Formats: sequence, structure tokens, C-alpha cells
Amino acid sequence: MSDVLSLSLAEALEGLKNKDFSARELAETHVKAAEAINPALNCFTVIDGDRAIEMASASDARIAKGEAGLLEGAPLAIKDLYAVQGVNTEACSNILKGFKPEYESTVTQKLWDQGAVFLGKTNMDEFAMGSSNETSAHGPVINPWRKTGSDENLVPGGSSGGAASALAAGVSYGSTGTDTGGSIRQPAAFTGLVGVKPTYGRCSRWGIVAFASSLDHPGPFAKTVKDSAILTQAMSGYDPKDSTSYPGEVPNWIEAVGQSVKGLRIGVPKEYSVDGMPEDIAKLWAQGVDWLKAAGCEIVDVSLPMTKYALPAYYIIAPAEASSNLARYDGMRYGVRVEGEDLADTYEKTRAAGFGAEVQRRVLMGTYVLSAGYYDAYYVRALKVRRKILEDFNNAFTQVDALLTPTTPSAAFGIGAKANASPLEMYLNDIFTVTANIAGVPAMSVPAGLDKDGLPLGLQIITKALDEATMFKVGAALEDAAGFTAKPQAWWA
Ligand code: GLN
Repeated sequence: MSDVLSLSLAEALEGLKNKDFSARELAETHVKAAEAINPALNCFTVIDGDRAIEMASASDARIAKGEAGLLEGAPLAIKDLYAVQGVNTEACSNILKGFKPEYESTVTQKLWDQGAVFLGKTNMDEFAMGSSNETSAHGPVINPWRKTGSDENLVPGGSSGGAASALAAGVSYGSTGTDTGGSIRQPAAFTGLVGVKPTYGRCSRWGIVAFASSLDHPGPFAKTVKDSAILTQAMSGYDPKDSTSYPGEVPNWIEAVGQSVKGLRIGVPKEYSVDGMPEDIAKLWAQGVDWLKAAGCEIVDVSLPMTKYALPAYYIIAPAEASSNLARYDGMRYGVRVEGEDLADTYEKTRAAGFGAEVQRRVLMGTYVLSAGYYDAYYVRALKVRRKILEDFNNAFTQVDALLTPTTPSAAFGIGAKANASPLEMYLNDIFTVTANIAGVPAMSVPAGLDKDGLPLGLQIITKALDEATMFKVGAALEDAAGFTAKPQAWWA
């Protein structure tokens, strides 16, 4: 049965429909495989074999009755940020240790309603703050990919590193992630996967632990563009419980995959050509442009002049919102509690013990930029920059239908390589991804090639708000042209 692990989600759904295998068989194979890889890759924080088998058996019953949902019988891995009822949901932080929600996040509920099978929770950077999955209270996640001929462990990217790692190792048919500044697209690029961040508000944030509410975007990781369209379709839709949820209909994105891109105008923003960009990435980007040209697209040079202010603005807005969101962790209701001499002392000791160093740094930065004396100088200014970045995109999208950029300024790096350098080194990872969060526009990463060391690289497609259809179309055209079929060597087996 282990050959089923190499199927795509679409292929697995087809196989289930044709009764080539049962949902229960799929669940058993995935649980076994998840348990086998976890000691080496550390990608799961919870593997729930019992629940997986129970849900899969229910799927088999529905398939037998001809009542299959869109994701019927497909095992999925869920980032630890999503509340799953009765299952530890800790955002990989000690401060939430042992927290088992009484409720289910809207997005995961949608997945189960369509027949998906819960495989487990995936490791992540603490509170989704990071780009390497090294800030987790559960320890770092290891990337299944290694440089050719090397046995050095590499990061899978972050913050949704476990979700990416598990899927890249072939141990689910899709994973959920969240993307506040790049946390789906960057790990997707580092692990040879497709990663999608839909328009802000497409996927409900309800029941997902908040990092920076105006930037947080739930979305999927998938093996193929078609799978990513299926998953995004299943995860999206209006939710009255999230006041920023988009009330419109969800179009049929699955149909968009494979449609012609002939005549589409593709923008190449010159500001994404940054100093020190590795040659392999510059080459792949140029190759991507050629592929789309060959598919009938018109290539247009565009300018997004505010790009250079995106990262500084992000590192004001995101910590500001985080410091406010994380104020609720006070040791009274969940997780860690360290008794102090009085209430204030208990808060201080609890938060000092419960939050890791990166989270504390964000809370400090956020509190600082929101404080009375600095609010206008930093926070309000960053909001003005945010508006300007949005105007850049609005301008560009009067000239083009989609933008093509690299996803990341590097391939996967070694464990400790950046975490032990300055925080700034780590923050620079998000240079190409944060802009789409700031503007709330859809963006995806598609695996497009390998670098000279044999590591995967991604190309990013950005479209205007609510135009995921064009994004999936262009994504599928790139995927077709790139023909990326490389897989990591199973050194962990
Ligand atoms: N790496 C960025 C950060 O640390 C983005 C994280 C994310 O998208 N959740 O804030």
C-alpha cells in the first residue's frame, strides 16, 4: 500500500472513487508513515491514528452510499495554529501547553464537512513567528531535502515548516498553513511544493490562533497546482464568525487549472531584482518569463517602487498586532502559569516562562511602536506605507493580469545558519513575500527548478484581490512548462 503515498490528492480522490483502495487503507498507510518519519523530521506535534481511522471509516461508508464530498477520504495534516476540537492546539508555544479547544476552526470544519481525514497537527515556529521553523517549543523541523551528496540537515522554511515537511516527505495529500508574511509560500519553495495564500478574507481566521490579524492568511500546501486549487476551494467561503471574512461566492478555481493563459499580460517588477540574488534564482526567474512567453503571455516590465519599504513596514505592523493579540496569554486561562507575589508578578513570570525569545522580541517591538510617544512615528507611518504599497499593486494591475517574481532570495539553508546570526538575516527571507500580505492580494509559489546543489526553488505569482482564478491558471502553465518532478531522497527511512 505504501505506493499510494506518492499519489497526488486528485489521483487519490479518483482512486477512492474507483474503489482502488479504501479511505481506511489510506489512513492506516499515512499514520504508519507519519510515525515512521517523525523521529527524523519532527514535522508532527500530534499524530492521531485513532481519529484518522474513525474518520476514514465514516468516509468509506459515505463513499459506499454515493455521498462523497470534495475531499472524501483524503488524509490531511493541520498546522498547530488551527483549533481542532479535543486535540492539543498550542501554536508550538509553552504558553499554550496542553490547551485542547472545545471548538473547531472554521477552515478545518469545512475540510471535515467535505470528507477530509485528520491525520495530525504539524510543527511550526512559535506563534508563526519565523522563517525556518526553529523557534518551536517542540524543536526544529528538518527539511526532507538535502544538498546533493551532503548529509547536513536543512530548515524546511517557516513558519509552517512541519506542514511543508510532512507533505514533501509524502505523508499527506495536503496540509493547511498560515501566511502572515510568507509562511506558506516560503516553506513551499524550500520543499518543492505548491503553496497558496488566497485573498485576505477568503479563508476564515476564526479558530486559528492570531498572530497579526490584518496580515494572517490561512491557505494550503499541495503537491500540484490542481491539488492546491481543490484545497483552496474547500477552505474558502464566507464566515459570519470572522468580521473580515469576504462575503462573496467562491468561484470554481479547479476549472481554472489547465485553461489557456494566451494573451494574459505578465508583469515583471524590477524592484524584485535585489542585490546579492543568487544566480540560480535570477536564472530561474528569467526562465519563468520565457516559459510564460512561450505559452502565449505578453511580458510587461512594471515598477512597484514602494517594495523596499515593505519589510520595514511589516516588521512594525506585524509585531504591533502581535503584541496586542498576545496580551491575552496571562496564565489565567490556559497553558503555563508561574505563581508570583501578586497578580502583576504572576503575569510577568508566566509570560517570561511561556514565551520563547523570538516571541518576546516581537512583543517588545510591538509594544514599543504602539507606545504613546512612538505611535505616530512608527505605527501610523507604517500604515501609510501600507497604503502606498497597495497603490503600487493597484497601479500595476491596471497594466498586467499577474506578476511573476522569485518566491525567496535563497534556497533552504542549514539548521542554525540564520537563527544563530542576527534576527535581521532571518527577516530578510520574506523580502519577496510580505508585500502580498500587506496588500492582501492572492499569491502562490510553484516549484520551478533545482539550484546547483539540487535544492528546490519556487516562482511566485501575484494577482489582484479576488482574482485567484488567474493565479491558478498562470500557476498551472508554469507547472506544465517547468515539469518539476524531483523528489527528496528518503534518507530518513
Ligand atoms: N517570517 C515572517 C515572520 O516571522 C512571516 C511569518 C508568517 O508568515 N507567519 O513574521
